[in-house]
Amino acid sequence: MDRLGLDPTEFVAVDEEGVVTAGIDPDETLATPTLAVVGRPNVGKSTLVNRMLGRREAVVQDVPGVTRDRVVYDALWNGRRFKLMDTGGWEPDAAGLQGFVAKQAETAMRLADAVLLVVDASVGATATDQAVARVLRRAEVPVMLCATKVDDDRLTSDTADLWRLGLGEPHPVSGLHGRGSGDLLDAILEILPETPRDDFGTSGGGPRRVALVGKPNVGKSSLLNKLAGEERSVVHDVAGTTVDPVDSLVELDGQVFRFVDTAGLRKRVKMASGMEYYASLRTSSAIESAEVALVLLDASEPIAEQDQRVLTMVVESGRALVILFNKWDKVDEERRHQLTRELERDLISVRWAERVNVSALTGRSTQRIAPALNRALESWDTRVPTGRLNQWLNDLVAATPPPVRGGKQPKIMFATQAQTRPPTFVLFTSGFLEAGYRRFVERRLREEFGFGGTPIRVSVRVREKRPRKK
Ligand code: GDP
Ligand code: GDP
Repeated sequence: MDRLGLDPTEFVAVDEEGVVTAGIDPDETLATPTLAVVGRPNVGKSTLVNRMLGRREAVVQDVPGVTRDRVVYDALWNGRRFKLMDTGGWEPDAAGLQGFVAKQAETAMRLADAVLLVVDASVGATATDQAVARVLRRAEVPVMLCATKVDDDRLTSDTADLWRLGLGEPHPVSGLHGRGSGDLLDAILEILPETPRDDFGTSGGGPRRVALVGKPNVGKSSLLNKLAGEERSVVHDVAGTTVDPVDSLVELDGQVFRFVDTAGLRKRVKMASGMEYYASLRTSSAIESAEVALVLLDASEPIAEQDQRVLTMVVESGRALVILFNKWDKVDEERRHQLTRELERDLISVRWAERVNVSALTGRSTQRIAPALNRALESWDTRVPTGRLNQWLNDLVAATPPPVRGGKQPKIMFATQAQTRPPTFVLFTSGFLEAGYRRFVERRLREEFGFGGTPIRVSVRVREKRPRKK
């Protein structure tokens, strides 16, 4: 119970169409920790995830061009809720396997609260498994090892060999038959923290993480080179792995930022045609690893659907955003007028994002990038105190109450900012709030509290009409 005497468990999540979202934690305000499942393709990750979810649902869908290399499910065991992140969405070619799985493990270490490495007991530890274990041994989050496909006792002895991966006791399971999965879940809950970390790896005061993204040829590599200084060598950060250095540390305005996943840019790897799917995966992976995205658009050309797709990825992943209009040196009077119209037509959904007109060629306005990044990050980190939020909300609702629906006036009882990064608000209500009213609340939230440069989320919990337990 909170201090208003509301019991959050009496509320259910209702989306904008009024659909009660089944399976979603009705008490999402208490954020749940995430367990990432990593391992080579075909070791049985999906089968195990299905088993742990107790349903046949974890079918990973690969939709080309869509951010689907990671799927998160809500899981429940012994009354505890947690999230399961299945990272196995696509298969790299054999040559790139080791690097791919190592990278997957790094992402998992960065995003999840605990990691489960899955090894195929019928195969034993391969070189790739060892490489991944090496990466995971440096993890700051707890890591657990499980050997799957142990369908009967025959393989149990072999799993002992997996101790040499240096990740502690190998837990034998059969994802297919369920053998050992209960014990595994018990063990997982022991290592999984109660609450998710909310630090995005910055609690140690490390550099803030920036994704430099945009469709091909907008000038990403040119800008990175300009910012890093053509002559001065970019600091490569190996992050203690066997894979290619993937990030660049770049000093802007005396402040070091970590530009994530820039290996491809530095090498100026150009995408062959038909590689768009992989380009898009790289973009989504960079965004996920970052706190703020610098989205480059080519100001000299009309805003394209591909540009919008990148922007949508950023908004959906809840990262802060700064938009750079690059190649400003090529923009003339006429183009400027066109652009103004395009902004109103195509970028209206991200009008809260700061825009900077730059030129990687001439260096124009590049000094404005760091302050814009900092402002966006500050909004992203903002937490509105509950008292202030509710005071504001009471005034808002008094002046403009939610529209009557089915003869009833829904009451908004209470609001709380459940999360930062991005700011996420939950409204507790007595009835359905129409999409229009939700948007109105979001708009007014921005007017009152700012949030320039960050997406914000507003979700609604409706009190469920059910008999009270005695
Ligand atoms: P993923 O690529 O790591 O997600 O692996 P999958 O879950 O798709 O499994 C790969 C293959 O191994 C499939 O043919 C599964 O049926 C099989 N498999 C998965 N778990 C088990 C298990 O516990 N026992 C046996 N015998 N086969 C399994
Ligand atoms: P990427 O694919 O996004 O990494 O783009 P590149 O950095 O390779 O740039 C694509 C092309 O645009 C190259 O020919 C660059 O020289 C050119 N370019 C990049 N930035 C600018 C700019 O600010 N002004 C002009 N005129 N050309 C640019």
